[in-house]
Amino acid sequence: MELRERLRRLPKTELHCHFVSTIRPATLAELAARERIELPHHDPSAPFDEGGLLAFLQVFDAAQAVLTRPEDVARVAAEGVADAVAAGSLRYRELFVNPDDLPLPYPVLIDAMIDGLEQGRAEWGVGSRIVVAIDRSLPASSAVALVETVLAHRRAAVVGIGQDNLTADGAEDALRFRDAYALAERHGLKRTAHVGETMRAQPADVPDAIDALRLDRVDHGYRVVDDPDALARARDSGVPFDCTPYSTLRLSQWPFAPDHRIARMIRAGLPVNLSTDDAVFFDTDIGREYADALPAMGLDLEDATRIARAGFEAAWCDDDERAAMLAEFDAAVRAGAGSSVETPSYRTVQ
Ligand SMILES: [Zn+2]
Repeated sequence: MELRERLRRLPKTELHCHFVSTIRPATLAELAARERIELPHHDPSAPFDEGGLLAFLQVFDAAQAVLTRPEDVARVAAEGVADAVAAGSLRYRELFVNPDDLPLPYPVLIDAMIDGLEQGRAEWGVGSRIVVAIDRSLPASSAVALVETVLAHRRAAVVGIGQDNLTADGAEDALRFRDAYALAERHGLKRTAHVGETMRAQPADVPDAIDALRLDRVDHGYRVVDDPDALARARDSGVPFDCTPYSTLRLSQWPFAPDHRIARMIRAGLPVNLSTDDAVFFDTDIGREYADALPAMGLDLEDATRIARAGFEAAWCDDDERAAMLAEFDAAVRAGAGSSVETPSYRTVQ
């Protein structure tokens, strides 16, 4: 079997995956027609220069606006699982959802997502959890209010908080949400944040956010490899990184090459796993994130197997479910799905 196909068939997780971005283009068009919402033109393969990013954000806003009924939300969640299973052997997914920007009340939205994800589990055996995303364009007080909403409507499937959207000035400034993260931690919610994504961020922003927000995972984090001290601090923390190759190509124009920051993070021993981030808008899927990016970055099937396994280890599911998924993964690898070489395990952060 050729390498591409083996990479595609490797069982995978997606831990950094924004719910709205998993919508099928055909479903988006159908729901937009029903809601009489005009969809702006967006070419997902075009580079995200200033105009491209604007078009992406306009389509993203429209995709949020069309989800007016609980059955829409359940459908998008279930179709997203089906598509990722077909495209890249998805076995487990954590969906980011930003309730502040969706037209349904929080408990209705979450219960509909859970319905759709349960269909995914029933039909394809794919596990899932939900991560509520802080809207970075809103003030810090809104983030605290969002965590309070999550706590007022606890659901076992909602396991933590993360982030989405952009800040008004494009800066990350993750630490301004310190109060929301502290509240989440006090109530047992896991925590991840979008940090160190672009050249506007500083390398030390990554370990600073790990420490100040007491992160369990980091989304992106690429800039950390640009400074040895920041890299050492991040590595010592043991915190896993949810990286998204295609988003770096689309948003930062970083080509898939051996000196790509994700490849450098992997070679530096950081526990990296891969996801799509905004699949429909970046013209990607979980299969392509492995099959397109990793060989071009000089990484082989053994590396890919370790990266895929790191995703299961970093999952915010119950210990029993994680152990069962890892056993299934190891059996699939022994059966030829990944590298036959013994794969060293990354340390799981609890
Ligand atoms: Zn993201």
